[in-house]
Amino acid sequence: MAGIVHVIGAGLSGLSAAVELADAGRRVVVHEAARFAGGRCRSYHDAALDLTIDNGNHLLLSGNWAALAYLDRIGGRDAVTIADEPAFSFADLATGERWTLRPNQGRLPWWILDARRRVPGTRAPDYLAPIGVLRAPPAATVGEVMACRGPLYDRLWQPVLLAALNTEPGEADAQLAAQILRETLAAGGQACRPVVATGGLSAALVDPAIAFLRERGGEVRFGRALKRVALEGARVSAIHFGDDDITLGADDQVVLAVPPNVATALLPEISAPERFHAIVNGHFRIAPPAGQQLVLGVVNGMTEWLFAYPDRLSVTISCADRLLDTPREALAETIWREVATLTGLAPELPRWQIVRERRATFSATPQEAAKRPEARTRYDNLVLAGDWTQTGLPATIEGSIRSGLSAAALLAGAPDRLDRSRRAA
Ligand SMILES: Cc1cc2nc3c(=O)[nH]c(=O)nc-3n(C[C@H](O)[C@H](O)[C@H](O)COP(=O)(O)OP(=O)(O)OC[C@H]3O[C@@H](n4cnc5c(N)ncnc54)[C@H](O)[C@@H]3O)c2cc1C
Repeated sequence: MAGIVHVIGAGLSGLSAAVELADAGRRVVVHEAARFAGGRCRSYHDAALDLTIDNGNHLLLSGNWAALAYLDRIGGRDAVTIADEPAFSFADLATGERWTLRPNQGRLPWWILDARRRVPGTRAPDYLAPIGVLRAPPAATVGEVMACRGPLYDRLWQPVLLAALNTEPGEADAQLAAQILRETLAAGGQACRPVVATGGLSAALVDPAIAFLRERGGEVRFGRALKRVALEGARVSAIHFGDDDITLGADDQVVLAVPPNVATALLPEISAPERFHAIVNGHFRIAPPAGQQLVLGVVNGMTEWLFAYPDRLSVTISCADRLLDTPREALAETIWREVATLTGLAPELPRWQIVRERRATFSATPQEAAKRPEARTRYDNLVLAGDWTQTGLPATIEGSIRSGLSAAALLAGAPDRLDRSRRAA
């Protein structure tokens, strides 16, 4: 196939599709509505902090094979830090307790038999609670198949599932939760090493992808919002950007990698999630104290995860719709009070920024998950990509990147290529 592939949207799903296609020798043109790439996963210079920060802290795990392969392919690995050990440190703000969860490397989870590797106050059989999740029937919620209470739930399953699903776990789709568990804790410690873009999300995942595309003759055009697609039978015949229309040749193809509301406005017959949840991040311009963990899980506070970067401390709060109307100053003060307690830093508020992503991810309930479309559409030359399509994962970097791979594989007429890539990784 010699035609051009037009990729609409330069978020990670669009970039992943574009990289895969350009690497296979296809001519690729990426059209991005904004003046920057990366979508919901990017860095920018923040004037209040006078620092380059990320729109939100993003955690990957070493089991995210597609994300790591993408980083390797574009040359972004130097901007990420991969923890040496599968270890997760936690702090309880109510009791002051600290602990580190230490899964062993292999698949056989003998670590749950060792009290020093477990969550304090829990017993080995408690760790079997998610078996109901792993066996959940379609459309079940986590709350229907697992007891959402008790010390292990409060100190492990709730924070982990909330972060992965950005939805209160009790209401979340159990099969999505199961897939997270299968690809992380159930896959053994080797899949659970934290991975953080300490050099910045754009330096790791976005800028090298654009350079990769340009080196292969691809184009990335900014300020190009797709306004309309013209349809002729089972084909897209033209794409309209307002001031510029492109008529598609017989071999030209389209990857539509835009958010769900944009996709359904362009193609109303597409089904897509309609409910979303916010994520709030608090960024503080201060050097972390010596020995501060890369990522610290926090329970019994507003703070849920504390990330340490060389020039700042940043806090993530998931499913944070309840905080959208709270004044920013109040959020910064509350969060900083907690961070000062956790780190031993002075209580005076450093320079700060609060970033609220209102529609951070789709709500991972069974009702919303059922609306996710396949990448294939009824148009021969148009496929979908995005974290909201049917990836089998919640809205994550890994899901976005896999969706881009699926879209590229479908256009190449090799839909099973994703499975081959997974096996190769
Ligand atoms: C604050 C926050 C924290 C997160 N934390 C994590 C985490 O810890 N771990 C994790 O794995 N994931 C996390 N995520 C999720 C992750 O960021 C997303 O799943 C991923 O970035 C989505 O990529 P995408 O390409 O699917 O969508 P998007 O990033 O939304 O990309 C869509 C692109 O399309 C463009 N566009 C829109 N309309 C048009 C148009 N008409 N024409 C052309 N272009 C258009 C947009 O500008 C955008 O660039 C987080 C998300 C947020 C917001």
